[in-house]
Amino acid sequence: MLKSLKDCFKLYNGIEIPCVGYGTYLTPNGKTAVDSVKEAICLGYRHIDTAAAYENEKSIGKAIKECGIDRKDLFITSKLWNSDQGYDSTLKAFDKTMSDLNLEYLDLYLIHWPIAKGHENDWQIMNRETWRAFEKLYDQGKIRAIGVSNFKPHHIDSLMQTAKIAPMVNQIELHPGMNQNETVAYCNQHNILVEAWGPFSQGMLFGLDLLQAIAAKYKKTIAQVALRWHLQKGILPLPKSVTPSRIAENADIFDFTLSDSDMLYIDNLDGRIGSGLDSDECAF
Ligand code: NAD
Repeated sequence: MLKSLKDCFKLYNGIEIPCVGYGTYLTPNGKTAVDSVKEAICLGYRHIDTAAAYENEKSIGKAIKECGIDRKDLFITSKLWNSDQGYDSTLKAFDKTMSDLNLEYLDLYLIHWPIAKGHENDWQIMNRETWRAFEKLYDQGKIRAIGVSNFKPHHIDSLMQTAKIAPMVNQIELHPGMNQNETVAYCNQHNILVEAWGPFSQGMLFGLDLLQAIAAKYKKTIAQVALRWHLQKGILPLPKSVTPSRIAENADIFDFTLSDSDMLYIDNLDGRIGSGLDSDECAF
């Protein structure tokens, strides 16, 4: 039973990962990133999700140094961007991420996207080479867990043809209105923890009345109902806001439980909304 932001899911290698991650996509480097990450940590978040592509790792590193919480009590995730895929380039990109974050080890490193632009025909080889570098960094103790993002089952199957270590996490778009049943079932079967990016469908969820009645019933907000739905499905959500009141609101999700019928109602919204991004079609 998860009772606070500090409670954890356990990865198959035994590493504990705080059950809600604080998202930082589109958080500008500089004061906004430093202040919002410090605010989140102050409010109890212990898990921060960033990526080289977000270009805010330096400010996040500054917030981590200044927040007053022991490094070992924080869980920091970053992601390898597409243009850095490949063995040597991954090792180099990892060094840059660590130098920008100003950290000695990373908790979780993800391949951001399965098919990089220009590699539509050899993405399988690119992912395997990138993963070989991930395994080296993991074996060296520089990363506590390794995983993928936006991978469908067939992308993971391809990776596993040469992988020595299976991914521990798959971070995918997942929210009320987009269940990703096939990928979630595959990940559950293979002990891969699913993390949900865009838990509010990047804000689209608030433009629909779909969850209003349920939110009113529990005297909670749509955001809180959405996050609760993720947690009750065993999925780790990554809500993003830089507004202190919303950062607090998104943390206040441990004092209610959605009923089975309300969970089912939300499950049945599958297909209503989503970014429309398809990791087989869209190469960045
Ligand atoms: P999100 O679903 O978290 O939505 C963010 C939007 O919702 C923002 O506009 C924010 O102001 C608004 N919001 C947040 N809390 C609110 C509240 N309580 N009430 C009203 N509005 C609220 O979208 P996201 O930022 O794209 O996704 C979350 C995180 O997932 C990112 O920040 C990033 O860390 C990660 N992510 C990963 C990938 C990937 O490819 N791996 C892609 C996108 C995002």
